Amino acid sequence: MTNIVLFGPPGAGKGTQATILKDKYDLIHISTGDVFRYNIKNQTELGLSAKSYIDKGQLVPDEVTINMLKAEVEKNPEANGFIFDGFPRTETQADALEEFLESKGTKVHAMIALEVEDNILVERLLERGKTSGRADDADEQVIRNRIKVYYDETAILKNYYQEKDRYFGVNGVGSIDEITERLSIVIDRLMK
Ligand code: ADP
Repeated sequence: MTNIVLFGPPGAGKGTQATILKDKYDLIHISTGDVFRYNIKNQTELGLSAKSYIDKGQLVPDEVTINMLKAEVEKNPEANGFIFDGFPRTETQADALEEFLESKGTKVHAMIALEVEDNILVERLLERGKTSGRADDADEQVIRNRIKVYYDETAILKNYYQEKDRYFGVNGVGSIDEITERLSIVIDRLMK
C-alpha cells in the first residue's frame, strides 16, 4: 500500500493533481472538501452540520471530520493506497490518521506539499470562484480567512511529517503537467 497526503494551502492545486495522480498510480482519492460538498448538496445531517463552518472559511470540527474520513477509507477495503487531499488539517487529525492507519497495518508514506505563495492563491481562488459555484471561493474575505486558518492550524503539519522524515515539498507554480511531473518524481521513489 502507498498512502500519500497531498498538502498545501487552499488553491495550491491539490484537487487537480490528485485527480491525475489517482489514475496514474491506481490510488483512491479522498478529498474531505468534496465529501463535505457532496453531503451539503444532498442535505445530509453531516452536510448540514458542516455547511456553517465551510461558508465562513472555518474548519469543520475534528471529530466530525475524522469520523467521516475513516468511513471513506473503510468503503475501499481493496485499495492499493490512498491520496488524502485536505486531510489532515490539524494536529489532532494527523494523530488520528497515524493511529487509524497503524491499526490497519499501514501508514502515511509521505506528505507531499504543493508550495505556492499567497498572492497567487487568492488570485487562483477568485478565478475559480467565477465558475465553481462555491460560496467559499466567491468572497475575498472568506478566502483570506481560509489561508489564515491554514497558517494558524494546518501549516504546522509540515514539521509533524518532517520530524518523521516523510515531508516532501514541491514547487506548485507552473503548468499542470510540470507539477504532475514534479510530484511523480517523489511518488516513483516511494513506490520503488
Ligand atoms: P480548499 O483546500 O480549496 O480550501 P477544500 O475543498 O479542501 O478546499 O475544503 C473546503 C472546506 O471544507 C474547508 O475550508 C473546510 O471548511 C472544510 N474542510 C475540508 N477538509 C477539512 C478538514 N480536514 N478539517 C476540517 N475542515 C475541513
